[in-house]
Amino acid sequence: MKKINEYLADKEKTPAEDTQQKPNPDENKKTNTDENKQPNTDENKKPSTSPVQPATVIENGPRTAKRIALTFDDGPNAQFTPQVLDILKEQKAKATFFVLGSSVKNHPDLAKRIVDDGHVIANHSWNHPHLPQIAKKDVAKELDRTRDIVKKVTGKEMNLMRPPYGEVNDEVLSTLGERNLSVIKWDVDTEDWKGKSPEEIVQTVISNAQNGSIILMHDAGGDRTSTVQALRTLISQLRSQGYELVTVNQLLGKPAYK
Ligand SMILES: [Zn+2]
Repeated sequence: MKKINEYLADKEKTPAEDTQQKPNPDENKKTNTDENKQPNTDENKKPSTSPVQPATVIENGPRTAKRIALTFDDGPNAQFTPQVLDILKEQKAKATFFVLGSSVKNHPDLAKRIVDDGHVIANHSWNHPHLPQIAKKDVAKELDRTRDIVKKVTGKEMNLMRPPYGEVNDEVLSTLGERNLSVIKWDVDTEDWKGKSPEEIVQTVISNAQNGSIILMHDAGGDRTSTVQALRTLISQLRSQGYELVTVNQLLGKPAYK
C-alpha cells in the first residue's frame, strides 16, 4: 500500500511543479503580468517530455455521496452470469463486470448481453494469472488480448481494469499506465469466494458498505449460487439505506470506454 501512496504523491506533485517552472519561450516576450493567470494556454504549448505515469490503484469512490458500485468478477459464466443479469434487470440496477478474455471468447453472447443490458464491461486479464509473477510482455498480452476480444464482441474498448487477486507491483502498474487503464480494486469484499451463505454475504455488505464503496462479488470461478441468492436482498437493503447503485465509472466520474 505504501507504494501506491508514493505513486499518488508523485502524481500530485508533478502538475504543480510543471506550472511553476514553465519553460515557455513566449514568456520572455510578454510584459503583461496577467499571463500567469492563463495556465491553460501555456500548458497546451508545452511539449510533453515526462514519461508515462504508472497507473494508480483505486479502492473506492467519493465518500461524500450515497452511491455504491456493485462489481462482478471472473465471468462471463454460462450458468451464473445470466442469473445475475436477470436479477439486475428485474431490480433495474446497473453493475460493472470485470471479465476474463478467455471466458469472453467462450461466451461472446454473454459479454454482449452485459453491455446491451446497460452494464459496464471491464478488463480482468485473459487467464487470471498473478500478474506480478509473470513477465512484463505476458502482462501486456493478458491485457491486450482481453481488450481485443471484448472490442471485437461488444465494440467497446475498456478503460477500467481489475488485476486478478488485486495484485500489482511497480512493473504491472507501469504496464497498466502505458495503456492508460484505471486500476479498480474494492473496499468491500463479500467473500463469496470463501463459500459464504447468502445471509453472510448480505450481512458482510450491509456491515461494511459506506458512501463510495466498491463491492466485490463473483459471477464465475466456482459455485456462485449463494451470490445469486444474496443479490436481490442485497440490492433492496442497500437501496432502503438510501444508496444509489451506479457503475464504477459513474462512481468515479471517469469514462468506461476509450
Ligand atoms: Zn478474479
